Formats: sequence, structure tokens, C-alpha cells
Amino acid sequence: MSRLILGASWVIPVDGPPIKDGRVLVEGDRVAWLGPAGDPAAPQGPVRDLGPGVLLPGLVNAHCHLELSQLAGQTPLGEGFVPWVESVVAARGRPGEDAVRARAEAIRSLEERGTVAVGDVSNTLGHLDLLAASRLRSVVFLELLAWDPARAEATLTWAEERLAAAARTPTPGVEVRLAAHAPHSVSPELFARLVERGGVASIHLAESREECRFLAEGDGPWAGFLERRGLGHVSFRPPGTSPVEYVDGLGLLHPSLVVVHAVQVGEEDRGRLARRGVSVALCPRSNRNLGVGTADVPALLASGVRLCLGTDSLASVETLDVLDDAVLLTRQFPGLDPAAVVRMATAGGAEALGLDDLGTIAPGKRAALVFAGAPSPPTDPHAHVLSGRARLRRVGIG
Ligand SMILES: [Zn+2]
Repeated sequence: MSRLILGASWVIPVDGPPIKDGRVLVEGDRVAWLGPAGDPAAPQGPVRDLGPGVLLPGLVNAHCHLELSQLAGQTPLGEGFVPWVESVVAARGRPGEDAVRARAEAIRSLEERGTVAVGDVSNTLGHLDLLAASRLRSVVFLELLAWDPARAEATLTWAEERLAAAARTPTPGVEVRLAAHAPHSVSPELFARLVERGGVASIHLAESREECRFLAEGDGPWAGFLERRGLGHVSFRPPGTSPVEYVDGLGLLHPSLVVVHAVQVGEEDRGRLARRGVSVALCPRSNRNLGVGTADVPALLASGVRLCLGTDSLASVETLDVLDDAVLLTRQFPGLDPAAVVRMATAGGAEALGLDDLGTIAPGKRAALVFAGAPSPPTDPHAHVLSGRARLRRVGIG
């Protein structure tokens, strides 16, 4: 079994305080020991000294859409939520010979910048082979969209066939789960069928004011969008509640659900998300770029909601690097504990995706480690990682 001792001016284990002048022993693809260099129990042997900087667990991007990578720079930002959705719908329908290359390039950029796992939303499962060939661990959410209740059964059948086909093809490191797009794009009938078969693993929720208005009153810009999509005939009795309360009433909130966005939530909603034990994937850059608002992260934390970070797609953000979202979060909320933000980008994401051997540096965990080099030993390791200047690269084995 291969054996490697890594040394760095700081090690952030995430589930414990940072270790100054830290050492990490990697055996095979697992962490075997960690502690300060001066510890009498520190492993003996040559050390691969990474130099000044911070060693931490690899990042987890809990929400992206690799499939939309070819839409980078092709959608209008800052014109409102519904115009953006319409542009994505129009652009994704165009045949794109560059689509595969854009996805491969996106995966490469994730790997190069220290991401080790992704929660990737897909409507086709068309790039499982690319993910399997990468070093990323992937949870791929097969996303269902069907506002017309008459399509509920056929949509579910289609999904079952896709899942069965995916299960027949070996794709190591890739797991596929069912997801629903959002409460205003999936019919109550389809939600009911999904709940019957165990629920969904991810959903966009409480992202825009338009979503809230539609669920509260049944009208507004989203109703107009559905009409333009030829769905004006679908009758829908709006629940008259918040998005969170609505999907909770449908039985969708459970501890292995990744709720994406949670921008439009009040105190009662936060209590509900905490009680149900869901993970919330914050997408601060996408929310900013689309102008939907800012999730109240301190209030979510104070309510005990489990938080992680996602980028969303290149149709709404500049990179798929969650470190960029972590940096924005610390700028939006300077009072946030930097350790809590680093946790969201690592352990929070691993927990959300159910990847128990990632997210922290601890004996037995997978040695999916990244290093943020610095010109000189940083005085505060978390501040260095979140400075906006840190560049992460993967180190070690596994
Ligand atoms: Zn998304």
C-alpha cells in the first residue's frame, strides 16, 4: 500500500480546529493520521512538504448543471428571472455540437480547481460516461419537469426507463437519483406519484419572487410564461402558501433532500427546513446574477438549517467553482464564521449528497485533499482560503 506524509503550514480538518504546522498521513487512498508536526505520535519518514499554505478537504459542489455548460455567456442576466428561464429553454433546444466539449471542459475545470464531488442536475443523463472517466465523485439528479398533469404518468415511465438504462451501464463513482425541477414546473399529480415511490433527492425551491407569487395567487409573470409555453389550459388551484410550506404539505421534505436556493423563506419556513433535516444548497452568485435576492444565511444558520454550496450552471454563473461562492458569501455577510463557510463548501456538501467518506480530513476518510498555497505562512487559514486570492489544487492520492 502506498504511504505518503503531507506537510503544510496549516491543515483544516473541518470537523475540528485548524492544525498549525500540520501533518497528514495518507495510506492507499485513505487518511490514516493527522496532527501537528511536533506530536510524538506523528508518523516517521520523509515528508512531502507542500510549503506555506493550507491543506483542506476537497470541495463539494452540491448543485450544478453540467448539461448547460455550452450556454455560458448566452443568457441575459439582470433582466429578471422569467426572461432568463425563457432564454435557457430556447437556447438548450438548439442543437449544439459544442455541448459535449463544453461539458468535458467544465469537468476539467472542476478538477483543476479542487472540486472532488458534484451534485449534477441532468435532464438526459447524457454525460455519465464523462463523469465516470473523471476523478470526481458524482451524484446525478435526473430532473423531472411536467406541468401538465396529463403528462405525469408518461414522465414517470420515461424516468424509470432512464434509471434502468443507467443502472445497466457501469459508471464507477456516479450515482443517479430522481429529482424534481421546482414546485411551479411540476404538477401536484406528478409530485404525488413521486412521493409514492419514495420522493425526490433534489428540488429548486423558493428561488424567485415570481415562484412565490404563482404559488400564492396563481398569477404573475410565471403564469404568463406557462401560457406562452402552451400550458395555459392547465388548471391549478394555488395553495396560497410559501413554496416551502407547499412542498412540505406534499410530503417532499426529508433528510436526504437537497433543497436548492431557499432565498424566499421566512422564519416559519426556516424552522420547517431545519425540522425536516433537509440540506439547503446556497447559490449566492447565481442568485446575485439573476437578481432574485439574497438568502438570509445568518438566519438559516441560526435556525439550524444544514447548509452547503452549489454554483448552479454556467448559464447563470462565471465558473463552477464553489470557492467563488464561498468568497462572495463572506463578502455579503462579513459577520459569518469563516469556518462555517469552509464547512459549507466541504463537509456540508458531502453530507447533503450522502458521500460519507468525503468532506473532512479524518482517519478512514478518503484522501481527496486540496492545497491552497500562499506566498508566506498565513496567519489565519480560513481567511486565506476565503480571501479571493487562494487557488486550490488537488494533492495526494485518491
Ligand atoms: Zn439549478
